[in-house]
Amino acid sequence: MPNCMCNIFRIMRFKRLLLVICVLANSVICTPLCYGAQDFQLEGLEQVKAGNFTKALECFDTALKEHPNSWVIMQSIANCQMELGHYDTAVAFLQKSIEAGGLHPIQCNNMAAVYQKSGQVKKALAWLQLECTLDPSRSLDPRTKANIRRLKDPANNPTGSLTASDYLSGLVSFKRCPKEAMPLKVYVRSNFQIPDFYPMFFAIVRESLDQWRKATDNAISYKFVQKLDSADLILDYTYREELIRSDHELGAMGATEMLTSMNDKRSDRAISVILVKDAPGAPIFKDRALIKRCCLHELGHALGANGHSPNQHDIMFCSGSVDSGAQLTARDKNTMHKIYHTQTSGVPKHLVVSSEIRK
Ligand SMILES: [Zn+2]
Repeated sequence: MPNCMCNIFRIMRFKRLLLVICVLANSVICTPLCYGAQDFQLEGLEQVKAGNFTKALECFDTALKEHPNSWVIMQSIANCQMELGHYDTAVAFLQKSIEAGGLHPIQCNNMAAVYQKSGQVKKALAWLQLECTLDPSRSLDPRTKANIRRLKDPANNPTGSLTASDYLSGLVSFKRCPKEAMPLKVYVRSNFQIPDFYPMFFAIVRESLDQWRKATDNAISYKFVQKLDSADLILDYTYREELIRSDHELGAMGATEMLTSMNDKRSDRAISVILVKDAPGAPIFKDRALIKRCCLHELGHALGANGHSPNQHDIMFCSGSVDSGAQLTARDKNTMHKIYHTQTSGVPKHLVVSSEIRK
């Protein structure tokens, strides 16, 4: 994310849903919430806006103690748990919410979001389709349509064995950077809005590149350059979610754009963007291991893997977990090693990674 570890289910939408929920809370629920619970809910919303989901969760938990049967508060808790990467807990709270308040389209949407973020594409698709059944107008919404299309995209539905020594056959396509392009020229771009994070980001990029280099027995090599123009790989970091395109990854916090070179001896230019903060006002940066996992994943795409592993433990799984480590698995290493050492032509099944081209 990427996770590549994004979509209608991101924070902006979450905030909108919460606002709708608040309106519902004031107008629909038979037992009106007292001012105390409302205060905690409003405070929770403010914390969500700031990207501080842990604090938001505390507020919603307190509100739920006052109103233990409020399906609205349960949903807010579920959404915070989702943002914190606690997907099983999020699903449990959404199920409780459905039991307490009946099945609403918005709950289907939230359930789909959790499953999408956790990489369970088929379940996410089923819940989105159920949402459209309950509220047919949803199926006309362009973002819902786009999301359903993404969930059906083969790149997000990797096939193959979970236990084989590699997942090369499960990729949509692959294309190694040519020998003549080595060492790859890497440009790590400083973000002038958060310049203090640059040293940390630079270190994460270097560590990630070294992992891929070792995995290929140095078939991949690289050097850092000071000029953008000559770079093969460009690494950016940001706190602006809108820069992590909505049509890329499931639950993404990263995106990679591939610009295909027509010259066989040149590497395709890749631009990877990593989300390092939940929002401009978020008090802390994301967990270093999570950022590194995302960086490893995006570099995996940039270095030639188009598609994902079906195994959630692999770095190249289509979604990332907060609890996951930031080391390539044996399967990740073997797959990239094969891409760089097999006698295949290296020509991809598809020249252009269409789902990852920024329009
Ligand atoms: Zn990916």
